[in-house]
Amino acid sequence: MAVPKKKTSKSRRNMRRSHHALPMVNVSECANCGELKMSHHVCQSCGQYNGRQVIALGEAAEADA
Ligand SMILES: [Zn+2]
Repeated sequence: MAVPKKKTSKSRRNMRRSHHALPMVNVSECANCGELKMSHHVCQSCGQYNGRQVIALGEAAEADA
């Protein structure tokens, strides 16, 4: 098994981790309610997609389907 000969310094460790940041999620504003939503996804707050009601609002209506 390969064993490191020298302890990795804080500087070197942090330089390695400088690439570990997560990219920003692609969010856009909903055309109907203005809430932030993921592009190409149904709006989680009003249930509309492309100007059309896709999900009925309320948990009770969802359970019937
Ligand atoms: Zn919406």
